[in-house]
Order: sequence, then structure tokens, then C-alpha cells
Amino acid sequence: MSIYLDSRFSKLIPYAPGEQPKTPVKIKLNTNESPFPPSPKVRQAVMAAVETMRLYPDPTASAVIEALAQTLGVRPGQVTLGNGSDEILAFCFQALCPNGVAFPDISYGFYPVYAQLYQVDIHTIPLRDDFTLAVEDYAGLGRTIVFANPNAPTGLALSRAQIATMLETNPGSLVIVDEAYIDFGAESAIPLLEQYDNLMVVGTFSKSRAMAGARLGYAVASEALIADLNLIKYSFNPYNLNRMTLAAGAAVLEDASYFEACAQKIINTRIIAKDKLEKSGYYCTDSMANFIFVSHPEYEAEVLQGRLRAEGILVRWFNQSRIKNWLRITIGTETQMDELVKIMDSITNK
Ligand SMILES: *Cc1c(COP(=O)(O)O)cnc(C)c1O
Repeated sequence: MSIYLDSRFSKLIPYAPGEQPKTPVKIKLNTNESPFPPSPKVRQAVMAAVETMRLYPDPTASAVIEALAQTLGVRPGQVTLGNGSDEILAFCFQALCPNGVAFPDISYGFYPVYAQLYQVDIHTIPLRDDFTLAVEDYAGLGRTIVFANPNAPTGLALSRAQIATMLETNPGSLVIVDEAYIDFGAESAIPLLEQYDNLMVVGTFSKSRAMAGARLGYAVASEALIADLNLIKYSFNPYNLNRMTLAAGAAVLEDASYFEACAQKIINTRIIAKDKLEKSGYYCTDSMANFIFVSHPEYEAEVLQGRLRAEGILVRWFNQSRIKNWLRITIGTETQMDELVKIMDSITNK
């Protein structure tokens, strides 16, 4: 730390991203990336965009916004894009939490980091013992609420009706639903936008659309809330989406059938992997995401993580009090998951 750093940031603890190994490991299941490449249509679109790289990108990103609005069944004015959904979330913490923020004690690790970065008062609400989020615990908070649905790293999801209850019991407060994993089986809150103007849905192309490396996320909300996000965007970086990413995003949206087939494969593989691990004595939450959340009554998660690493398999372990004995394992291809299950079974059933 230099003597020039503003003292407001001297205690800031940054987000710790999952390991991105320099030399490829055999099976990488630690950061919830897709095991499949993005739609084959992406390559050509990105190559064409490279030809025009000398020009600034479209700051309104209208082509991708219009296609995404159509895909999601909303008006283009209800959508804005970010450099990853992380950027959208950052704007939300910066500008849309005037009375502080509330989020679950176990959820996406970036929420507390952004709250600290933008000096937003934090109210954490513990998940119940079974890791479920009880909407009653969120009634009348008088501050912005943010949570992931399905939640990370538990994979547990609220129904659309439960989210409606949260919106009803927080009139006048913004509720941000982070739907990074929505395409793997849970119900999107987007249809509730017709009825509730205190709802914002945030999503990403990183997971189900296999574009983590391109950085493309979005927010869907009322026109007024989208104008608020654009106010921040145009006061910070109007060119937050580069030409290659915009081209990739447009191409991916044109190939809905490829996207749906990949998401369905991941769901099927998740169901099979969970079933096999449970037969081997592991416990898995009822995940609706592209990962499973796994523990074993006799083997410590940190030890299991080390054993898997020794076999060339990376999974995620969080050194955090309530989830110390759990591993978050991304769903890979069928072959990768068979290998994982075989090793996990051999560890506990010698
Ligand atoms: C991965 C993830 C994000 C971030 O997605 P990007 O679009 O890659 O920035 C946001 N929220 C949750 C819960 C995530 O898991």
C-alpha cells in the first residue's frame, strides 16, 4: 500500500476469484464456467468485429439490447448491458442503495466487497440452518435487497411466488434478483416486472451462454431504473462493452437452440452426478444451478478438495464459517463428472 491511497480504502478486502491455473488442469470445476464452447456462430462474428476494432463500439449497444429484450420478452428500454453482471451489480451498490443494503450471510462473495467499496451500510441476514432463504426474514427492511436466485454456492432457489411476496413486503425498496444461474432450472422473476416496479433482475452471459471470458451481463427493470443505471454508465465508461463482446453476444442470441441444448445437457448431468454422489454417501443440496454443493459426514471438505486436486480436479472450497464442510463443484461434461464421481467414491468407500 502506498502513502497515496485514500484511507477510506485501506481496509478494503477485495474479491478473491476462483483459481485460474496457469497450466491447464485435467478437469476444472471451480469457477462455474460452461464445459462447452459458445455457439459456433460466435467465431465468425468476432472475427468480423476485429476488422472494425479501430472504431469505438456502439455506446447504446442497441443491437444486443434489442435481441436480448426480445429473448426475455421485455421492451428494449427495460434492458441495459454491463461489462459482466459484476459491473451492473457495482452500479447498483454505488447508486441504488441510498438506505443501505441487505443480503444473505451465504451468497455471492462480491456483495460485501461492493458494499465496502461504495461505503454502503450492510445488513446480513442468515440463511436458515438448511441454507434456505426465508422471505419472512426480509419483510419491511427499508433498504435495498440483493440475493442470487438460484443462490450461490448453495444452488437453492426461491419460486417466483416467493419473490413476489418479498416485493410485496418491501414496497418502496428495491429488490435486486441476481439470476446468474437462472437457465439451469429455476423460475425467472422477469415476468414479475409487469406488476412490480421495485424489482431489478440481473443476468449474465458468463454461465449458461458460455461467455465468461467475454464479459457481458445485463439488467432488466423498469425504464426508470434502467435510466438510473445508464446515468452511472455514461458518467463512468460509455464504451463499457467492446466490439468483439457485442458481436459475440449478438451471435449467441441468434443461436437459441444451441444454448438450450447446452443448458439441458448440464441439467441432466447434474441430476446424474448428484444421484451417484448420494449413493456414495455424500449429501448434496437440491441445486438448480450449473454446480452442486456437496458435503460428507465423515470427510472434511478441505481434505476432499486436496485429494481431488492431487488427481488433477479443481473444485471450490470456501473458508467461511457455516460452509467450511462443503464443496462447490461445477457441472462439467458427462465424462468429466464420471471421472469426478469415480474419484470421490474411491475416497470415501475404500
Ligand atoms: C458468476 C456470477 C456473477 C458474475 O457474472 P459476470 O457476468 O461474469 O460478472 C454474478 N452473480 C453471481 C451469483 C455469479 O455466480
